[in-house]
Amino acid sequence: TPDFHGKHVTVAGLGVSGVPAARVLRELGAEVTVVNGGDGPRERTQAGELEALGVTVRLGDGATLPAGTELVVTTPGWKPASPLFAAAAAAGVPVWGDVELAWRLRDRDPARKPAPWLAVTGTNGKTTTVRMLESILGAAGLRTAAVGNIGVSLLDVVTGDAEYDVLAVELSSYQLHWAPSVRAHSAAVLNLAPDHLDWHGSMAAYAADKGRIYEGNRVACVYNTADPATEELVRAADVEEGCRAIGFTLGTPGPSQLGLVDDLLVDRAFVADRHRQAQELAQITDIGAAARGADQAPPPAPHNIANALAAAALARAWGVTPAAVRDGLRAFRPDPHRIEFVARTGEVTWIDDSKATNTHAAQASLAAYRPIVWIAGGLAKGAAFDELVRDCADRLRGVVLIGADRALIRDALARHAPEVPVVDLDRTDTGAMAAAVREAARLARPGDTVLLAPACASMDMFVNYNARGDAFAAAVRELAAGGEGPA
Ligand code: ADP
Repeated sequence: TPDFHGKHVTVAGLGVSGVPAARVLRELGAEVTVVNGGDGPRERTQAGELEALGVTVRLGDGATLPAGTELVVTTPGWKPASPLFAAAAAAGVPVWGDVELAWRLRDRDPARKPAPWLAVTGTNGKTTTVRMLESILGAAGLRTAAVGNIGVSLLDVVTGDAEYDVLAVELSSYQLHWAPSVRAHSAAVLNLAPDHLDWHGSMAAYAADKGRIYEGNRVACVYNTADPATEELVRAADVEEGCRAIGFTLGTPGPSQLGLVDDLLVDRAFVADRHRQAQELAQITDIGAAARGADQAPPPAPHNIANALAAAALARAWGVTPAAVRDGLRAFRPDPHRIEFVARTGEVTWIDDSKATNTHAAQASLAAYRPIVWIAGGLAKGAAFDELVRDCADRLRGVVLIGADRALIRDALARHAPEVPVVDLDRTDTGAMAAAVREAARLARPGDTVLLAPACASMDMFVNYNARGDAFAAAVRELAAGGEGPA
């Protein structure tokens, strides 16, 4: 554990990760200065709280490195190209993210054994996979928590009182970029698609940051056989001797893989019995069985089966039994707005995948249903929609478009699915969602799924994707209560 006493540390940014970082560093005796570009009312409140602890806060200037800085601790929002980091590099000052700081502090208390990390990254599916992993580890009787990008700060966990056997850690590409010395027990990269390229600068830089998660792994590097880029990252990684590359596949698993045989999740990587080639783990329908319950929710979407296999691989790498994998997958509850079943009206199923904020995510959920009435649109973040629309064209009953960048989707539909009826609502007000739901109900026929999978960010119309999904669910429930569902 590094000694922070009297050390001059600059924290870049306030907010949910900057404020706790500043507080912890101050508690450890560091001389802390927080720099933050913005200086609105919220920043002033946070600054006031930190100043009361003896932290110096400079609002309105996020570019100048305070004189005498020996270490910069940055929050994930700051781009690597920020002038502050150029100044740090020029001065030979190291830059850590909050995850790096947490990693360095994990063995701070000699009386406690630090909990190893089972880590997950990828463009999409991180939160779902980490929740599944948490559930499996819990079912195995282990003391665990889902932490990291998922909401619970790693810094809180490593400095808190609770003791853990093992942690299920979600890491974003931003966090990995600034976490050079993190060494997971085992880690998975679920998939790689262009996202956040404005932050990383290029696809290669983004992939390299994701690939960092494999560095120094001890037991298993878990990759997606359907996404060769993830396997390449495993090959490029420098791992501990004996660490294995473990693939997951929606097909029949080969040696050192987990996959599907008929409707079973099967492990061919961690088979304890020498006389057997494969170990059955669970049925596909076990995934999320408790949450689906007796309602009429559809079976798990293919990408959630992939997520379950990745979670199972990490749990098996830790030594969890097949029975605990099955029990954990049964008990797993998805976070809201991730392929969330909302209701059935008449013969129509309504699904909220508001978290599909990019085309890669929407592609996965659109592939899971047929026929679909698709509600899409929002902020496109520079994405192109041709591939997405081409892939799902033959599944679409109709499309309802909302949001600022809906013309991009409308044009792609005109090119690749000209016969699919499109209702362009031409609205970006919050009430547009209720109108979209009414239009979708008109388009849907018995047996159809209405899917909110916007393929776009939500901030043109809503505070965040949660609010967008809530508006959708509320409108659907109102429709269901009114009994206006299509016959
Ligand atoms: P993340 O934490 O990486 O954003 P989530 O688990 O919250 O991922 O899922 C976000 C969205 O991504 C889901 O709503 C779904 O549309 C899509 N998704 C989930 N898992 C996958 C996957 N394995 N491949 C592609 N898309 C996925």
